Amino acid sequence: MAKGNINVSVENIFPLIKKFLYSDHEIFLRELISNATDATLKLKHLTQIGEAKVEYGNPMIELKIDKKKKTLHIIDRGIGMTGEEVEKYINEVAFSGAEEFLNKYKESAQDAGIIGHFGLGFYSSFMVADQVEIITKSYKDEPAVHWICDGSPEFTLEETDSKTEHGTEIILHISKDSKEFLEDYKISELLQKYSKFNQIPIKFGTRTETLPLPEGAAEDAKPETVEVDNIVNNPNPAWIKKPTELKDEDYLAFYHELYPGQFEEPLFWIHLNVDYPFHLTGILFFPRLGNNINIDKDKIQLYQNQVFVTDEVKGIVPDFLMLLRGVIDSPDIPLNVSRSYLQSDGAVKKISNYISKKVADKMASLLKNDREEFEKKWNDIKVVLEYGVISDEKFSEKSDKFMLFPTVDEKYYTWDELNEKLKDNQTDKDGKFVLLYATDKEQQDAYIQSAHEKSYEVLLMDSPIAAHFIQKLEYTKEKISFARVDADHISNLIKKDETSISKLSDEQKESLKTSIESSIDKEKYTIQLEDLSMTDAPFVITQPEFIRRMKDMQQTGGGGMFGMGAFPEMYNLVVNTNSDLATEILNKPDDEKAELIGNALDLAKLSQNLLKGKELTDFIRRSFEKLK
Ligand code: ADP
Repeated sequence: MAKGNINVSVENIFPLIKKFLYSDHEIFLRELISNATDATLKLKHLTQIGEAKVEYGNPMIELKIDKKKKTLHIIDRGIGMTGEEVEKYINEVAFSGAEEFLNKYKESAQDAGIIGHFGLGFYSSFMVADQVEIITKSYKDEPAVHWICDGSPEFTLEETDSKTEHGTEIILHISKDSKEFLEDYKISELLQKYSKFNQIPIKFGTRTETLPLPEGAAEDAKPETVEVDNIVNNPNPAWIKKPTELKDEDYLAFYHELYPGQFEEPLFWIHLNVDYPFHLTGILFFPRLGNNINIDKDKIQLYQNQVFVTDEVKGIVPDFLMLLRGVIDSPDIPLNVSRSYLQSDGAVKKISNYISKKVADKMASLLKNDREEFEKKWNDIKVVLEYGVISDEKFSEKSDKFMLFPTVDEKYYTWDELNEKLKDNQTDKDGKFVLLYATDKEQQDAYIQSAHEKSYEVLLMDSPIAAHFIQKLEYTKEKISFARVDADHISNLIKKDETSISKLSDEQKESLKTSIESSIDKEKYTIQLEDLSMTDAPFVITQPEFIRRMKDMQQTGGGGMFGMGAFPEMYNLVVNTNSDLATEILNKPDDEKAELIGNALDLAKLSQNLLKGKELTDFIRRSFEKLK
């Protein structure tokens, strides 16, 4: 038997690592399964090139729990190690790797941590075990060896004849404070989390399978059952296949495989596959989002060679795509680094840009190839795309190719179509193309109708980030401005061949204005006389677009507008001088004017949802009174 001391400069680094990674002890299983997988794939390669003369067969990795001995066993049929290799790879590589990891981790411990805590490798088994044994036999014709270590630099290594087949068995003597790793449910849970798509099949126990009844079997025949290996993973997940091999059903099945608790179907998906300048595969799904955003559930998962790393993909996936679901798998994402490093890493930036570009291209092709379907799904994807336009410059540049602008009556325009169809009719006095929009079809109905009467189109922009999106469009597109239907009055738009005629003389208008001003709160309302058509509402309350939009944006956050204080309550009262009511006000004796104006203002408020509380109660009481 050989005894030895492992040459590490930090005396007993084990307690340190244990402390640092306290919350992440469970990753040991992922690391050991990764090693077992690597060892198996290496053997596959060596047999393929004729280097290894052993039978590769259909190897699997087996996990076993021995409750009595309090051990967890991870057994592979890979290349195994010779005594010399154990000395080299375990005593030197694994231990120095752990030391290096520790040094790195110390530096970035104040950061958000190292993603996935990758890189600790074999040594991580000491986070859950007091003692670790390795029994391994190389594919080369050499005796098997048995290595035992308790995490300290001392170990024993001896030859053994207890193993005759090539491969490695790792035996963890689970420590008292890690007892949970001796429970079937816990191991199953970890296998589900980290190894669900591992490249080599993983066996954990057995299960009973019912055989189909033979043909012509008696009606009361009992079907036979057999015990079969319980394979917990799918080594061939959809994302590693070619898109041409997959049908819609396959993508949907994979979606449910990935998120077993998710019952909704995704709207569409994007298969990612790139070899240069980095390797990346994956599938991104667009879930049905509507206006309801829950970013904490069923997030995008990051894998490395089919091993789960994390579902915290911030920095790797562009922010606006964090609402998507699915998998990305790339060996080129550095993992033993801190998050802040990740965000400045060149390869990672390229990956993020690639994903954003792929999504833009996919959207453009969906619009081009099946517009009807795309329109149907619009309501569920618009938030993601609007957010993309706001936050991602490259994405924004491409967005004319896929952004749709629905109207309140469910027509859908692209940006070019909007310009083509509406520009003539909706350009204001300063030559600006004015786009009217509603944020709430029900509440703004009166305004929508009066816009429609003038044959203006009204867009429906009801997403929670619409105000930011509009702001961005006004900034990037030349000579356009957006106005909510109840904002700056639509009479600001000039219609060709339409000259407004006025029923009132300038003097009468002046008198009308004075009367109204003396009966309402001047601080709150600015009176604006307009010669509208006789059928237009006599009094209309509008809010300056700017103030209202700033308020909206303040509510949804962003734009550095927090702490700017409350915007003042300010409204315009647009008075239609051509309305019968205007004439009526002029003709009323002075002492009756105020009541008439008050009632008209209440009606205008009511249609803007501004009449509330006591004011509303009083108004209704008065109105009932009149019905008598
Ligand atoms: P890494 O896997 O990152 O190289 P580890 O500390 O996990 O670091 O392992 C160190 C080395 O030990 C591996 O590179 C490999 O050569 C060897 N090794 C670990 N586990 C096995 C195994 N199950 N079969 C064969 N070799 C192994």
